[in-house]
Amino acid sequence: TTQFPSLGNGLPVLETNCYVAGVKVVSEKILEVKSPYDNRVVGTVVLANAAHAQQAIEAALQGGKKLSRYDRFSILDKARQLLVERKDEFAKIISAESGLAIREAIYETGRAHDVLMFAAMESLKDDGDIYSCDISPQGKARKIFTMREPLSLALCITPFNHPLNQVAHKIAPAIAVGTPVILKPSEKTPLTAIKFTELLYEAGLPPYMLSTLLGPTSEIAEPLVKDPRVEIVSFTGSVPVGKRIATTAGYKKVILELGGNDPVIILEDADLDTAVHLAAEGAYRNSGQRCTAVKRILVHEKIKDAFIEKFVEKSKSYLCGDPADPATVVGTVIDEASAIYLETVVNKAVEQGAKVVLGGKRIGALMQPTVITDVPRHADMVMQESFGPLAPILSFTDIDDAIALSNSTAYGLSSGIITNNMQNAIRFIKELKVGTVNINEVPGYRIESSPFGGIKDSGLGVKEGVIEAMKCFTFVKTFSMPW
Ligand code: NAD
Repeated sequence: TTQFPSLGNGLPVLETNCYVAGVKVVSEKILEVKSPYDNRVVGTVVLANAAHAQQAIEAALQGGKKLSRYDRFSILDKARQLLVERKDEFAKIISAESGLAIREAIYETGRAHDVLMFAAMESLKDDGDIYSCDISPQGKARKIFTMREPLSLALCITPFNHPLNQVAHKIAPAIAVGTPVILKPSEKTPLTAIKFTELLYEAGLPPYMLSTLLGPTSEIAEPLVKDPRVEIVSFTGSVPVGKRIATTAGYKKVILELGGNDPVIILEDADLDTAVHLAAEGAYRNSGQRCTAVKRILVHEKIKDAFIEKFVEKSKSYLCGDPADPATVVGTVIDEASAIYLETVVNKAVEQGAKVVLGGKRIGALMQPTVITDVPRHADMVMQESFGPLAPILSFTDIDDAIALSNSTAYGLSSGIITNNMQNAIRFIKELKVGTVNINEVPGYRIESSPFGGIKDSGLGVKEGVIEAMKCFTFVKTFSMPW
């Protein structure tokens, strides 16, 4: 692995532990967490084993103080305040263990702030409905009321690519409804998740409400997925692991937020500067490691050459380097193996006739923002998810062709359409087989409380986002009364 001089960000090596219901796990097994940029050890985690997983289940089910709506609000709001105070520290931890540029890490703390804020607000709202029953010829003078009750235990499994926000998007809605959680964060980015766990305890979260476990998949993740006492598995990650969970989880609720292969589709009438800006932001932000990153740029053939010229210029401004440097825009990808994979898919596309017009090179886990043109429609790079700062450009002839091309992969997460023509925009909204269509925005555009999630291989169509996730972590009880 290549070593680099790093600015470093002044953080000491973080020595952390897994937690079973507020108690630090003690064991012989230690995970070392290394910076993908310079390979230095940035922290350690004392790992859990199968017995800890059992203890976590038992503690959650035994429960403790039942939280009122005001309690849940207060915990989430206090956590939000603590995160504001520790924003810089969290950003440094995210950047150190993931290699994401520090500016991206700071942005991510802002998103997690919003998740906590919206979850706190939502926890105060009543979630019931009322159905009058005297509304049909066979009606009665009664009313049916609904209320939501928390599930008894959630298992939340998160990926590496947003070490804080992914975790916040699972735990905060669960707290908002009072569902205890066992969190299994990514082994690649565990430090942020553990520090966030500690922050939540400090904010007043009763220990039984959260355990955070890492350890061998065969001892932690797999047995927990299968355990009948776990009522819901909420998973965000890759398609193969998500599909495996779908088959092993058994009789329980399963939420799957999986990979994506999102297009930005640039129509003939598009404002070119807007298109260039959004395509670059979509492809390169977070080192291209977002489920909703732009992974295909589809451009109308008449404007393709003009677009490519401006896009290459724009791409040069995405400086790639030391994640700790505030001037860096694109940090590393998650590890050297991922960068090697990206290099391989680029080379393979070139063998199939594509041209690299910018970047294409890798040093260690740093992958340059890479613009590739003339990419064949069947290239792996456009059919599979490549999780990195790659920008493959393909052209289309007309709207029918663009829609068919966009729908031609196994994924169906999100999309961005660049056009000023309302009729065309509406066609894409209606005809794309995806969870989200954003007009004149990147596919990843959302607010943290809006419904979010994909179809086809990207997910089962069950949405997340704070409000939808709160619904997932509850079941609806109805009761009726004479009226
Ligand atoms: P991954 O699937 O490799 O790992 C995700 C999590 O699953 C990790 O915590 C991992 O330890 C755990 N895991 C691995 N094997 C398991 C098993 N057999 N049973 C249970 N858990 C297991 O994903 P990753 O590489 O960390 O993350 C990148 C992927 O996540 C990309 O495909 C990306 O598109 C996807 N993602 C999707 C969304 C979304 O909302 N749709 C958001 C972010 C990332």
